[in-house]
Amino acid sequence: MNRATNSNNKDYFAYYLSLALFFLSGFVFASETEHTFNLTEVANGNFVHTGVHVRIEDKHHDDIANIGFIIGNTCVAVIDTGGSISIGQQLLDNIRNKTDKPICYVINTHVHFDHILGNKVFKSDKTHFVGHHQLSEAIEHNKEFFLEYYKNDLGLNPDTSSIIGPDILVNKTMQLDIGERLLTLISYPVSHSHNDLIVIDNKTKTLWAGDLIFRQRIPSLTGSLKGWLSTMDELLKLDVIKVIPGHGSISDSISEALEQQQTYLQHLLKDTRDAIAKGQFINDAMETIDKENQSNWLLHNYQHPNNVSKAFTELEWE
Ligand SMILES: [Zn+2]
Ligand SMILES: [Zn+2]
Repeated sequence: MNRATNSNNKDYFAYYLSLALFFLSGFVFASETEHTFNLTEVANGNFVHTGVHVRIEDKHHDDIANIGFIIGNTCVAVIDTGGSISIGQQLLDNIRNKTDKPICYVINTHVHFDHILGNKVFKSDKTHFVGHHQLSEAIEHNKEFFLEYYKNDLGLNPDTSSIIGPDILVNKTMQLDIGERLLTLISYPVSHSHNDLIVIDNKTKTLWAGDLIFRQRIPSLTGSLKGWLSTMDELLKLDVIKVIPGHGSISDSISEALEQQQTYLQHLLKDTRDAIAKGQFINDAMETIDKENQSNWLLHNYQHPNNVSKAFTELEWE
C-alpha cells in the first residue's frame, strides 16, 4: 500500500511536474513568439515587414531591416530578404499567405547582411537576383566575413553557396515588369554603402529606399558622407508619395523621410571639417562632434563614433 501510495505520489509528482514544465515551456514558447513577423500593406500590393532597432550583437539582430515584396499581375518582386535564413523563410511564408504567383525577382538594395542573408530561401530556376552593378563583387568580397560572423544565421553547415549574389546587375537604371506593374530601379554612386539601389513601384509611387534612408535608428555610414548627401539631394527630386526606409517608420513624404537624416549628416560634415581644421585628433573629435543631436536617434552611442571615424577618414585629405 505504502509502496503503491508512494508510487501514486510519484506519479502525481511526475504529472504535476510535467504539467508545470508544459506550461513553463508554453510560456517560454509564448515569449519567443512574441517576436512575431509583422507585415503591413503600406500601398496597394506593397507589403512591408518592419525590423526592430537592436544592436548587431543582440538577439533578433537578423531582423533589423525593413524588407518586403510587391505583387504584380504575373509575379512577385521581393525587396531584401532579412539577415538570416530564418527571416527569409518567414518572409517567403508570408508571401505564400498572400499569393501563389511565382517570385520573378529578389532585389537587394545593398550588400549589408541584414538585407541579403535570407536570399538563399528564394533560390529557384524562376527567380532572378537583382542588384547594383557593384553588388556581385561586394558579396564575393564579404562571403568569408559573413560565414565567420553570421554563421548561426545561415542555416545548417553553411558554406559560400549559402550566400546568393545577383545575376542581373543595374548599371544606372532598369525597369522590371511584374505584370501591369513597372518597377524602376536606380543605382547610386557610393553613399550609405558602395552599392546602394532603390526601387520605385510606379503604380503606387512607392519608394523602397533601402539604407539610403534611416529613420529613428541612427544612420550608419559605411560608404561616403559627401556621396550620401548628394544622393539625398537626388532622392528629394523623386516623384513618390510613400517612402519605405531601410530602417525605421514608413513615411508619406520624401522630404519628411529625409529631414532628420539630412540634418545629422550635414552636421557630421561641418563638425568633422571644423575638427580637422582645428587640428583635432580623431578620438577627441568623437567626443565632441554633434553631441547635441544625441537624443534624436536610437542607438546613437553605439553607431555615432563609427560615423565620426568614417567621416574623419574621408575628409582629412580633402
Ligand atoms: Zn540595413
Ligand atoms: Zn546598410
